[in-house]
Amino acid sequence: MEKGQIRVQTENIFPIIKKFLYSEHDIFLRELISNAVDASQKITTLSSIGEAKGELGELRIDVSIDKEAKTLTIEDRGVGMTAEEVDKYLNQVAFSGAEEFLQKYKDANIIGHFGLGFYSAFMVSDRVEVYTKSYQDAPATYWSCDGSPSFELGPTEKENRGTKIVLHINQDSEEFLEADNIRRILEKFCKFLPIAIFFEDKQINNTQPLWIKKPNELTDEDYKNFYKELYPFGEPPLFWIHLNVDYPFNLTGVLYFPKIKQSYEIQKDKIQLYSNQVFVTDEVKDIVPEFLMLLHGVIDSPDIPLNVSRSYLQGDPNVRKINGYITKKVSDKLEEIFKSDRKSFEEKWESIGLFVKYGMMTEDKFLEKAAKYFIMQDSVDSSKFYTLDEYKTETEATQKNKEGKTVILYTSDPISQDAYVKAATAKGYKVVRFETIVDNAFVNNMEMKWSDVQFTRVDADIVDNLIDKSENNESVLSEDEKTALTDLFKLEVPGLNVNVEIKGLSADAAPVVATRPEFMRRMKDMGAMGGGMASFYATMPDEVTLTVNGNHPIYQQLLKLEDKTAKEKQTRNLADLALLSQGLLKGAGLTDFINRSVELMENK
Ligand code: ADP
Ligand code: MG
Repeated sequence: MEKGQIRVQTENIFPIIKKFLYSEHDIFLRELISNAVDASQKITTLSSIGEAKGELGELRIDVSIDKEAKTLTIEDRGVGMTAEEVDKYLNQVAFSGAEEFLQKYKDANIIGHFGLGFYSAFMVSDRVEVYTKSYQDAPATYWSCDGSPSFELGPTEKENRGTKIVLHINQDSEEFLEADNIRRILEKFCKFLPIAIFFEDKQINNTQPLWIKKPNELTDEDYKNFYKELYPFGEPPLFWIHLNVDYPFNLTGVLYFPKIKQSYEIQKDKIQLYSNQVFVTDEVKDIVPEFLMLLHGVIDSPDIPLNVSRSYLQGDPNVRKINGYITKKVSDKLEEIFKSDRKSFEEKWESIGLFVKYGMMTEDKFLEKAAKYFIMQDSVDSSKFYTLDEYKTETEATQKNKEGKTVILYTSDPISQDAYVKAATAKGYKVVRFETIVDNAFVNNMEMKWSDVQFTRVDADIVDNLIDKSENNESVLSEDEKTALTDLFKLEVPGLNVNVEIKGLSADAAPVVATRPEFMRRMKDMGAMGGGMASFYATMPDEVTLTVNGNHPIYQQLLKLEDKTAKEKQTRNLADLALLSQGLLKGAGLTDFINRSVELMENK
């Protein structure tokens, strides 16, 4: 048996490796199994070109644990290694590679996921033994190393072609002798590896995952079943995109659009990244555009660098190209569905809309394309949807303001804003729904990007003023009466600034309408979500405008009332009704209103 020293400059490489890899010990298994897969694929290739003679046999990888002996064993039927190869690949290449790696990334902020290949075994082992027999006509070889730079190398008995690696698990790593743990790790990293992997007599992996197959050979059922395989508890997906490029980078995968209910929690990190069917990570930030993180599925690319830090990944040209490619694919798919089956696109809009809006806000390239299939749902007829162009055309005559901008009237809550929606639709306006969690930000953002559009919430002003402030103010009241009415409505409401305006609206319009100026309301909505300037607005009192319709007949009676208390009570009730419709009447104010209403009905 030959004894020797591993030729590395750093004497104590193993403690460094252990320290570096502290956070993700699990990956040693991924690395060793990847090597076994590589060796198995190599023998297939060599055999197919006639380089390797003899029977190929069943290619499989067996993982086993022996709790008593404290060993974990990985055995393959791959190419195997000759003694020269063991010396070259395990003593020299592998170790020099590790040293180089450590030199290079000594100070770098490395976050998991990288592998040091074969030596990852020393993170969890006191000693590593290798028994290997090459497909070439050469004696079997034994190699052993205890984690110091000294090794043993010599002949051994081994009948079958392939490599058996025995890890003597160290005291700190005894978790890797637990079957449940090993199964969990194998299921995480090896679920879709191309060579069958067995643990405790059960095959762990699906060697033919859907994304490596040709799209034209797959049915909808196949895609749905694969989704179930990935997310056993998930609801069926809405639709999917099969990714398949080989130039200028290699990328395959399937991305699914999940069903999203607006009020549900949005789950990110549902996309899994693979490299040649080896699981790498489910943190695909930087590779997938932010707005598509809500998608589910699998991306497989050998071209994404795995062994480097996050900051490097962001600058990597391949990663940027992949990002652009995925954005384009998703956009093309959406356009295709919109064009070929608009009805089904509209039905799915509740879920799709969320991606589309995120994308329009965050990616200008996407915005350009999405403007074609971005749709808005009518607030009255929920089966009616408008694209931006359709909305502009249909409201051409009614909803262009003085500046020539189309005013998109929207409701964020059709139920509580019902009175405002009715008033606006009665006037022939089209009111659309913007009621999801992203809509607030979306409206602000699009106003900056679309110069010919303005968004106004339907309760932002009285209906006559929604498109433009109307000049028509002819009121039947005298100036004195107006002043008297203004004074009556100047209410003290804690935490609320009340402005009063007397307008001459039509006699059958509401006597008082409460509106919240669009700007202030948006600021407060943003403030409620937290952050920056907005949180300053959140602390400001709310602002409301009471528009009093001087032409409403009720004021002829009211102003003539002798009883001052009765007059105030009635005024207050009218104002409270308006505040109520804005959701601004709460707590003690609401209780007072109820009591007062009862008193008024009793004619007190
Ligand atoms: P890498 O896989 O990136 O080449 P590793 O450190 O994982 O680096 O492995 C070093 C080399 O050792 C491999 O390239 C391969 O030649 C050899 N090797 C490792 N494991 C096996 C195995 N199970 N069967 C055959 N050769 C192996
Ligand atoms: Mg390797």
